[in-house]
Amino acid sequence: MARNLDVFKKRALEIAGDITAWRRELHKTPETGIHTPSTQAFICAELDKMGIPYRKDVGGGGCTGIVALIEGKNPGSGKVFTIRADCDGLPIAEETGLPFASANGCMHACGHDAHSAIALGAAKIIKENAGKLEGRVKILFQPGEEGNPVGPGGAKRMLDDGALENPRSDVIVGLHVGKLGEGVGPGEFCFRRDALMACMDRFEIVVKGVGSHGSTPQNSIDPIMIAAQIISTLQTIVSREFSPLVPVVISFGSIHAGSAFNIIPSECKMSGTIRALKNDIRKTLAKRIGEVAESVAEGMRGSVEYDFNWDGPAPVVNNPEVAEEFRKVAEELFPGDVVELENPLMGGEDMAFFLEAVPGMFCFFNTCDPAKHKFYHHNSKFDFDDTILWKGSAVMSAMAFQWLSDHK
Ligand SMILES: [Zn+2]
Ligand SMILES: [Zn+2]
Repeated sequence: MARNLDVFKKRALEIAGDITAWRRELHKTPETGIHTPSTQAFICAELDKMGIPYRKDVGGGGCTGIVALIEGKNPGSGKVFTIRADCDGLPIAEETGLPFASANGCMHACGHDAHSAIALGAAKIIKENAGKLEGRVKILFQPGEEGNPVGPGGAKRMLDDGALENPRSDVIVGLHVGKLGEGVGPGEFCFRRDALMACMDRFEIVVKGVGSHGSTPQNSIDPIMIAAQIISTLQTIVSREFSPLVPVVISFGSIHAGSAFNIIPSECKMSGTIRALKNDIRKTLAKRIGEVAESVAEGMRGSVEYDFNWDGPAPVVNNPEVAEEFRKVAEELFPGDVVELENPLMGGEDMAFFLEAVPGMFCFFNTCDPAKHKFYHHNSKFDFDDTILWKGSAVMSAMAFQWLSDHK
């Protein structure tokens, strides 16, 4: 692998100001969910300026995904390298006090504004060098990563709407800024060769009992008592049914029942999440949670309605060859700034949908310096160093060229 990747680093540094400015513009007007029309308009306008064609409103049902395509030196042929950037914000009111802070009640509190800016920077560099490009580069701008209250999120929708087809993507890469890798320094990239993040599934349990006056429990089938037993017993799935060496999480995030201190209600609703690093564990958990909840409720004379929502993303699993190709390129551009993580994160990411469809890799780019940035993801004070985003564009554009020339 002897190539001149330095040109990508040099060019990314030259346009670093543009990349930072794009991020700040996007930061001012965050939009949430799958419908992010002004974000789409901003990105499309920049792609227009670069002369890069795209398909917009990818995903259907109001989803404003964008699929841009840069042809190489032989238009219409060659392998397809794909870069994925998400672009949605969160329903959090910003409290950073930054001059470009959002004032619309939502916030780019996960850094997806930076991902889109990095992808735009990579797009610009790749387009400028398209005459030397062996294949083609597709760039996905994806809303709805943070979820969608009704139905699938942005990645699943874009996938179902053919984002990886016509032309068919051969490989996909993406990154996440902020502070996600343990023990990783500012400005460093980190990755893994297999699972990087967990699945992110949601389940709901409604416990059905019989209500009564609080003074006459004998007349009730107490759904709160049943719920308490279910919550405790479910943790034994984690501790007794899986090896202590296998990471498994079952957490409840909500429980609601009753209307007064002295009434035993007839129903208790609760919802939770599971996290696992393998799909077979995910399927086992989905089955066992239902079985345990049902049997506990039955043993206490009640019943449950159980719903496991399969719209959530699978584990984020990197392809080892693509991960190694990334490591080589990133290490060559930024020696000493690439870290292989020992442990995955139990958080989830809907990049997983794309990685299930084609080989690829997802990595973290640490843009936070603990000395300057104390508040991390999904926090109203989340902030990071956006003057180093050019490093992400350098790695993405260099990797696109290198991968395509290695896989002619
Ligand atoms: Zn997030
Ligand atoms: Zn995110």
